[in-house]
Amino acid sequence: METVAVILAAGSGSRTGLSTPKQFLPLGGKAVLEHSVQTFHNHPGIDQVVIVTATEFIDKVQGLVKANNWTKVTAVLAGGKERFDSSLAAVSHFSSMPDTVMLFHDAARPLVSERIITDALKAMETYNAVDVAVPAVDTIVQCNKEGTYMTSIQDRSLLWRMQTPQGFRQKTIEQAYEIALKDPQFTATDDCGTVLRYLPEEKVGIVHGSERNIKLTYADDLSLLEFLLSTQE
Ligand code: C5P
Repeated sequence: METVAVILAAGSGSRTGLSTPKQFLPLGGKAVLEHSVQTFHNHPGIDQVVIVTATEFIDKVQGLVKANNWTKVTAVLAGGKERFDSSLAAVSHFSSMPDTVMLFHDAARPLVSERIITDALKAMETYNAVDVAVPAVDTIVQCNKEGTYMTSIQDRSLLWRMQTPQGFRQKTIEQAYEIALKDPQFTATDDCGTVLRYLPEEKVGIVHGSERNIKLTYADDLSLLEFLLSTQE
């Protein structure tokens, strides 16, 4: 069973308000992306790593691959406008290897751990699709589109917050997108959402994530990440 980590690093990171995309911001003396790639690269269960980035950053990423001697990196691919376009670039790249286990990870989650990767790979022995997630600690409320009033409150005990990696057998995620892209109602979502909606017969397994596995979204998250990086799990 070939296992591939796909590091998604093609976003513009506009919510940080900074001109550099968040995956290239400095954290603990390295770029955020370098932490994410290194953890997958170090994992003995990962055979290959593929990095998806915006066309204008391909040279920069190739430079990082060389500087870090990431010998497991077999491709640096051009991403797309939406996150799912970037995922699809990797799905297509492996279309001749349908049994490959692909773990898709947000480059912007630099504190993913070896334990999470091990558990995700283990869960892929049972499921064709898995997601790393943590139980919701806050009550989650549904609001109207404008966010001005509440419409319903969900049962918190059933709610989880999704993280990455998300794992799929190549043929499963390829098939889900094949169906999705024919649907005029399809809207950009995360990859697990596509499987859940278009391949309802597939159970999407849950792997326990970690409160440390946060996604760098706003500029202030960098100081929290710096702090977490300085503490052991
Ligand atoms: O924008 P968001 O926070 O959801 O991005 C999550 C991850 O997906 C980031 O690492 C980002 O670089 C990546 N991404 C991508 N291609 C896009 C949008 C986001 O690879 N078009």
